[in-house]
Amino acid sequence: MPDIYLDNNATTKIDDKVLEAMLPYLQELYGNPASVQYRLGRIASEAVEQAREQVANSLQVSAKEIFFNTGATESINTVLRGTVETYSRKGKHIITAKTEHTAVLQTCEYLTKKGVEVTYLSVNKDGEIDLNELKDTIRQDTILVCLMAANNETGLIHPIEKIASICQEKDTLYFCDATQLIGKQDINLQDIPIDILTFSAHKLHGPKGIGALYIRRKRKPIQIPSLISGGSQEKGFRAGTLNTPNIVGCGKAIEIVRPQKQLRELRDNMEKRIIETVPQVIIHAQNGNRLYNTSYISFRHLKSAEIMTSLPHIALSSGSACSAGLLDPSHVLKAMGLSDEDSYASIRISLSKYNDKSQIDMATSQIIDAVTVLRNNSPIWQLFLDGLID
Ligand code: PLP
Repeated sequence: MPDIYLDNNATTKIDDKVLEAMLPYLQELYGNPASVQYRLGRIASEAVEQAREQVANSLQVSAKEIFFNTGATESINTVLRGTVETYSRKGKHIITAKTEHTAVLQTCEYLTKKGVEVTYLSVNKDGEIDLNELKDTIRQDTILVCLMAANNETGLIHPIEKIASICQEKDTLYFCDATQLIGKQDINLQDIPIDILTFSAHKLHGPKGIGALYIRRKRKPIQIPSLISGGSQEKGFRAGTLNTPNIVGCGKAIEIVRPQKQLRELRDNMEKRIIETVPQVIIHAQNGNRLYNTSYISFRHLKSAEIMTSLPHIALSSGSACSAGLLDPSHVLKAMGLSDEDSYASIRISLSKYNDKSQIDMATSQIIDAVTVLRNNSPIWQLFLDGLID
């Protein structure tokens, strides 16, 4: 049975055109882009600068504002740790949300131990933040607001234009983790006053381990120190020999990626079929503005691990994170008010341009069958049917 890959918020298949663009830089064009004294080095350097232009064009910014690194996790660490260091005179207060990616939450936890005060905004049952709460939470000593563009688990899209305007009004830096939005929706940074933004190429059919950090050039320059010291690559902002093939792949991926809005209909039809055939399902963030490719569903009274184990040919994701060998319920669903039980029952299905209707229909049938069989054999489901549990 061929595998059906429905875990595109985790990572995506590389586009053939991206791979094709990268291959020469893994083979014959292997020069170090810092070695511009000779031809091979200059060719690599030119390829890096072309990729920088491709990223800049996509975001409608200047290439001078783009820095390559290993992706969103590195950017998040660079920005959060860096702003705390440089803006200590203004204050030590950061605002984020309870539903941010673990890269943000873990870094904030580390910074809290170093004396930084972090406010975690709450969300409603659809995962939405309250903009008035954000406004009220920004203080004189707030150095950074860190709020993602779209949530990796639920697909919930934050109103980044409004968040950016509020931060601009309050003269506070806004850092946007746009890892899940870039490629799925056009972002024009001419129109949205986001100060700092990041993404990883592997979420948009590019290679893994590469991404970019956008830092707006302002009259009062944003100061973020380098996280990694060493050579003077990326104007001294990010040391280490540039990964030319990956950078070329990142540029190509963002240049050719197009929103795949047809996926919305496929996703909605899948959800409709599931709701109509399977009792006791919860579609998360269903009433919110969601990414068209993402569906996050709890099949109550089951464990996502059981469902996934019975469907080894379908790549799905559960919201649970494994820590110390134990499964933790999704912090995102917890913040949205879900019980641990219902959170453990959640499966994320995330689509890409490489999924067609027949694949999704087949996967939907198999998920429905698996849930039905598991429930039929489950004493807990029997208790529910007998009205002994909710
Ligand atoms: N932020 C979001 C919203 C993500 O979805 C991810 C990846 O899952 C990351 C950050 C981290 O990206 P990477 O693992 O490429 O550094």
